[in-house]
Amino acid sequence: MKSLGDLKRKVGATRSGSVPAAFREAARRTLLAWVDMAETHRLDMRQALRRLRDGEAAVEVARAALGAQASDPTGPMAQADCRKGCAFCCILLGSDGGTMTGVEAARLHEALAPLADQPDGRDWHPSACAALDPETRLCRAYEARPAICRSYISPDAALCERVAQGEAVAGPGVLGGHTLYLSVLTLTREALRGVTAVPTYSLSKIASAAVEGVPLADALDGARHAPRELTEEIGRQKAALGR
Ligand code: SF4
Ligand code: SF4
Repeated sequence: MKSLGDLKRKVGATRSGSVPAAFREAARRTLLAWVDMAETHRLDMRQALRRLRDGEAAVEVARAALGAQASDPTGPMAQADCRKGCAFCCILLGSDGGTMTGVEAARLHEALAPLADQPDGRDWHPSACAALDPETRLCRAYEARPAICRSYISPDAALCERVAQGEAVAGPGVLGGHTLYLSVLTLTREALRGVTAVPTYSLSKIASAAVEGVPLADALDGARHAPRELTEEIGRQKAALGR
């Protein structure tokens, strides 16, 4: 693959069978629009590949889609119980906490590194995200929080409290913008197979490493997912949607 034209042809021809059917063409259009933007801004192939590897196309579409959903007065956000200081969703069960792209991991690390050695979320709850303020329970990296944090909502905070205690309850979940984000990321990976890897990272590991003073390169090494993590996550979304 030598040019952005080659990349567009590859995106157009990629089967993307692992992406949920309802999101497949939207993901393809999004990625093609991103390559058009790269041409308009005269990015060379090396720059475009680096930005795609870091997940920029997925992050940009997630911001736009989630912003539109958040401002829709008839949408699920309008019915959500979410408010400042309500942080049961920042209790990250398991060791991973959620999937992030490279650009999100770098932004989160940059926001948290200056807060190294201050009290963090784990002083409130042992499984809380290290980005959380243990007193106010506000996110200390709000502007840099990744798509998973921007898209998770609930109609009732009490349900989130039960999820944080390990119960499987219906209600809390991610907005559709998050499925589009995962779809674009998956399609990017499939289109670039054999050209460059498109890695994902663990939210909780990046946040913890940043506040513990671990440099970005080492934090990324320690938080990098095996490729199957994204495959399994998009597979769960596909199963939930029926196909
Ligand atoms: S997702 Fe749940 S815990 Fe998080 S802010 Fe919304 S209601 Fe509160
Ligand atoms: S980054 Fe912020 S919003 Fe996301 S889990 Fe951590 S504290 Fe919560």
